[in-house]
Amino acid sequence: MTPTQPPRRRSLLPLLLLACLVLAGCGGASAGGGSGSGRAAAPGTGDGTAVKGASTTRAASTTRTASTTRTASTTRTASTTRTGATTRTGATTRAGAQAGPRFRGEIVRGGDAVRSRVRHSWRRGCPVGPGELRLLRADYWGFDRRVHQGELIVHRDHARRILVVLGKLFKAGYPIQRLRLVDAYRADDDRSMAANNTSGFNCRRVSGSSSWSEHAFGRAIDLNPLRNPWVTRGGRVSPPAGRPYANRARRAAGMIHANDLVVRAFAAAGWRWGGYWSGSKDYQHFSSTGR
Ligand SMILES: [Zn+2]
Repeated sequence: MTPTQPPRRRSLLPLLLLACLVLAGCGGASAGGGSGSGRAAAPGTGDGTAVKGASTTRAASTTRTASTTRTASTTRTASTTRTGATTRTGATTRAGAQAGPRFRGEIVRGGDAVRSRVRHSWRRGCPVGPGELRLLRADYWGFDRRVHQGELIVHRDHARRILVVLGKLFKAGYPIQRLRLVDAYRADDDRSMAANNTSGFNCRRVSGSSSWSEHAFGRAIDLNPLRNPWVTRGGRVSPPAGRPYANRARRAAGMIHANDLVVRAFAAAGWRWGGYWSGSKDYQHFSSTGR
């Protein structure tokens, strides 16, 4: 596939980096993120995104212009763990320079962080409680080729590895149209899909069945669902507006294809793709159980 690449301003980069050095004020995301990346204004930007009073885990990965490779991991206070992996790509010529904003993502811990965000998507009798779920906040590349910050809820057992997956998708420039909690659509999966919204947890049944969906356990994610529709054996396409993308020979932004970087990123986390199912194909669907 041909993911949209992050926009770059190569010619400005050396000047910006120099300005950073001179001003010594370009810590964290601003060194890469502010250089014409189009990073969208979002709450909690900068290095201070940890939510007060909550234990927060962050993962960061950065590609910059330099000649060394470095990885670092730091453990800070008892309430906050931060892992950072910085990859610097060698660049002896300007043409080889690559600069992109650093991925920022975090896991907001605690049932209270989730409870108020699942008023439509959770109710008593659901197979997992809010305390077992985690809210992720993460950067993603939009279809507008700008960086946005989105939210996703998954089971706590998968939160860290899914944050890593989101970091890989970001680094690869894979575009996501929307990354909003399904509660923004009053937990209506049809509305969420029609908006091409990527979502995780939703306490609902399998469509046309009385069984709990894997989404009800927080162990499934639907990615760009309009461009990766669910296609039944009988040819029904869901969402209906995704019919043009039932033709999987197409190549369009956000589409997922066998063994592409998206499928591989989830596979590395132990999650499997619904596009590999026999019979009905759920091209938007990834889950830890393969169901
Ligand atoms: Zn799904």
